[in-house]
Amino acid sequence: MKTLIINCGSSSLKYQLIDMATEKSMVQGLVERIGIEGSILTQKIEDRDKYIINTPMKDHKDAIKLVLEALVDKENGIIKSMDEIGAVGHRVVHGGEKYSESVIITDEVIQSIKDCIILAPLHNPPNITGIEACQELMPNTPMVAVFDTAFHQTMPKEAYICPLPYELYEKYGIRKYGFHGTSHKYVANKVAKVMGKNIEDLKIITCHLGNGCSIAAIKGGRSIDTSMGFTPVAGLMMGTRSGSIDPSVITFLIEEHGYTIEEVDDLLNKKSGVLGISGVSSDFRDVIAEADKGNIRAQLALDIFHYKVRAQIAAYAGIMGGVDTIVFTAGIGENSSLTRRESLRGLEFFGFTINEEKNSIRGKIQEISNEGSKVKIYQIPTNEELMIARDTAKLVK
Ligand code: ADP
Repeated sequence: MKTLIINCGSSSLKYQLIDMATEKSMVQGLVERIGIEGSILTQKIEDRDKYIINTPMKDHKDAIKLVLEALVDKENGIIKSMDEIGAVGHRVVHGGEKYSESVIITDEVIQSIKDCIILAPLHNPPNITGIEACQELMPNTPMVAVFDTAFHQTMPKEAYICPLPYELYEKYGIRKYGFHGTSHKYVANKVAKVMGKNIEDLKIITCHLGNGCSIAAIKGGRSIDTSMGFTPVAGLMMGTRSGSIDPSVITFLIEEHGYTIEEVDDLLNKKSGVLGISGVSSDFRDVIAEADKGNIRAQLALDIFHYKVRAQIAAYAGIMGGVDTIVFTAGIGENSSLTRRESLRGLEFFGFTINEEKNSIRGKIQEISNEGSKVKIYQIPTNEELMIARDTAKLVK
């Protein structure tokens, strides 16, 4: 069976077609600027030039129509007809407390995703738009929703209840949900496999460090805590998000300095983190390059970033009563030897040493701790699409 994976953002859409017999990704594509001038689709198939279509797309339905056309295109496509697509897996950001697993999409599921819009106002609406557009264009193809929050639904109450009046949880659903669940689950299972161990026997800390960053504590294969919270702003310092800060900063800015709520929201989500401290960029590569040239604020951004990661790893080792393996993944985690080294500096007392030669190689599944280390350190490229495809195929069967 071939499974189409759809990940809809507000004006973009990422897609892949995965052949479940080999688990190989046959096509990767990106549609950008949906609903704005300059809409563009870029499709990549191994060993071929990129296939680019520039055509106006007024909404996600137009975009998905074009994706399907690109997939079956005689010259540039990869399948003969849409019938070859056995199922569609949709990435959905927020499943609230209702979904701890992926589900086949029904009207009731769509309604539940709509009910969660209040918890993810930027993410769930485009996810729903993508699902509804696919349903219209492929009415007989089964669809599955895979939630970013689902894997963390195993957290115990002491990890997810916020120390606010309890009614706020009951009335408004204010609690920690956690995100990046598909990625944390994928790399945790992968590391257990690579180590030749049963995941039930392991204490794993997974560090997903990309534009968005989160860490999860995974004990016996279940997420027992994670650093993102009610929203993806909480926890670690990120590309443009602040991560956790004293909440009084917000009222201080509003009351004493006349900030509007929108300005504070923009500040915390888009102007803080690595960008806010460095003043250079949210892109880690740019900030590392500037720090290398002696830019003090770029260096400070890196120092804070690594300090936060280190502190979170230490906390999670503490709550699990130890750790067997620490995994680095996503853009920064997979590629930055500096980040892996600096985030682990001082934690060698756990029982590991880093193999600098291995650590200098990027983007590859490998152990980067030296042989004989009690705690194993790994870098593992994430593959959320494959995880979505596996869940989709399993449910459709
Ligand atoms: P997203 O959360 O958008 O999926 P990614 O996982 O692609 O993001 O991560 C993007 C981040 O990874 C950017 O900050 C980018 O600079 C960083 N990154 C990519 N390659 C490298 C590298 N070689 N060294 C350091 N950082 C890198």
